[in-house]
Parts: sequence; C-alpha cells; structure tokens
Amino acid sequence: MKPNAELISIGNELLSGRTLNTHGRDLGAALFSIGIDLTRDTSIGDHIDLIKSVAQDALQRTPILFISGGLGPTIDDITRDALADLFNRSIQQHTPTANYLEEWYQKRGRKLNSIGLRQALILEEATVLPNPIGAAPAQRIDLPEKKRCYLLPGPPNEFNAIVEKSILPELKSQYVHLTPKLFRSIHTRGIGESDIVERMQLQDISIPQGIEPGFYPAQGRVEIRLTAEADLENELEHYHNHLLKLFSDWLDRPEERID
Ligand code: AMP
Ligand code: MG
Repeated sequence: MKPNAELISIGNELLSGRTLNTHGRDLGAALFSIGIDLTRDTSIGDHIDLIKSVAQDALQRTPILFISGGLGPTIDDITRDALADLFNRSIQQHTPTANYLEEWYQKRGRKLNSIGLRQALILEEATVLPNPIGAAPAQRIDLPEKKRCYLLPGPPNEFNAIVEKSILPELKSQYVHLTPKLFRSIHTRGIGESDIVERMQLQDISIPQGIEPGFYPAQGRVEIRLTAEADLENELEHYHNHLLKLFSDWLDRPEERID
C-alpha cells in the first residue's frame, strides 16, 4: 500500500510570526515527486510535552513521520530529549559525528566547545544521516510495525539537502512501487471561482472519479489544478483538454490554447 507521511515543524518562531515555515511546502513537493502524499504539517512550539504528544498521535496515523527543528546546540533545542523520552531510548554521543563536527568547526576557524558537541547526540539505535552542508546531522529512528521517524535540523537549506540526498533515495528504494501522481493545470484570468465552478457544473461531463480538482485564486487569476494517480493518465488528459476548451475565452497562457 502507498504510504503517506506527516511533518511536525518545531519552533516558537514559526508560531509568533518571526519565521515563515517553509518545510511543509518543500517537503510536500519533494515527497510528491516520488509519489508519497504529505498529509499533515503540524507546527508547534518548543515544549517537550507537546512534542511527545503530537509525535505519538502522528505515529498512530502515519508510517513516515518527519520532525524538524530543535536539534541544534542551544537550550531551546529539546527535540531529541522529547523523543528519547517518548521512545524510551537513551541518548548517546556518536563518535563519527563528533569527529565531523570537530573538522567542520575547524574549517571555519572556530573551535568546537561542549555546547556545539551536543549536535553529536544521537538516540540509541538511530541511524545518522549526514548533513552535506551544515553541522547537525539528521537521524532515522526505526520503530515497530515498519514505522520510522526522521529528525531533521531546522535551517531550510540543510533540511532540504538531507531530504534530497539521503531520504528520498532511501524511501524510493524501500517503497519500490511508488509512482508520482500526475497533474495538469488550466490558468484562467478574468473569471471568478464561483463562475468557473458553475460553468463546470452546467456541463454533461462530470469530474471523472479519481481526478482531484483544486482551485487556486490570486489577483484576478484562478489556476484549476487536476491531480490523479499515474494509472489515470488517459482520463486526466481527456478531462484537461475538455476544461481547456471550456475556458478557452479566459486562458491566461496562450501556450495552453488547444483550439
Ligand atoms: P533549529 O533547528 O530549531 O535550531 O532552527 C535553526 C534555524 O532554522 C532557525 O533560524 C529556525 O528559525 C529555522 N527553522 C526551523 N524550522 C523552520 C521551518 N519549519 N521553516 C523555516 N525555517 C525554520
Ligand atoms: Mg528551534
């Protein structure tokens, strides 16, 4: 069966307006590209009890849980403590990571102190996923019933690099039958959402089963986006062409015109 995934984004700054949470968007796009749906992104503050309860709830629903933020060296970085408690595992110093950190700091003319060294703390039996551009590595915690939890650092460029370099390849090789979903768009201008839907409803052709429509309005334009599983390619193509004709008077992009 096709797995879904969830994300828990941790950080007070994501909730106070200090920082825009970009992980949901980036992870959603990365997983979409290999055929896994990101079905939930929960943002929470830096609180141990909250992290534990939200992670526990998510693992009831999903086999693949991503948790980001709070893996750095500062006192608000409490994610690994929360999860060690939840999964009843100890936290250990990972020597190869400590060596890597030593070198990483040295190359930048800095000295690794005991605070920085906290980034080498790994949950018992976790697998370390290297950080190709930053200090703190990610960790994969394998759980019963083939569930897994990825802990990732917060900086978006590091988060994305680890997803791209380590996590997508391992998910692809583990779930060999994944196929990315297909999508087609119709970009309209000068017609409102409600008029679009009314025009669609007045047609003889209803939306084929398995094709999910989304309507995305912005500044006088509406994108109608159709998404479907790969085995519905013909139905998707056919319905897309149908809508391109139906909205030919309002197409925003000349290249979409088919008549
Ligand atoms: P942390 O890993 O919690 O120490 O966060 C390191 C940096 O990454 C901080 O500047 C955070 O604000 C930023 N960060 C953490 N989570 C996110 C997120 N979901 N989206 C964007 N930036 C983030
Ligand atoms: Mg943080």
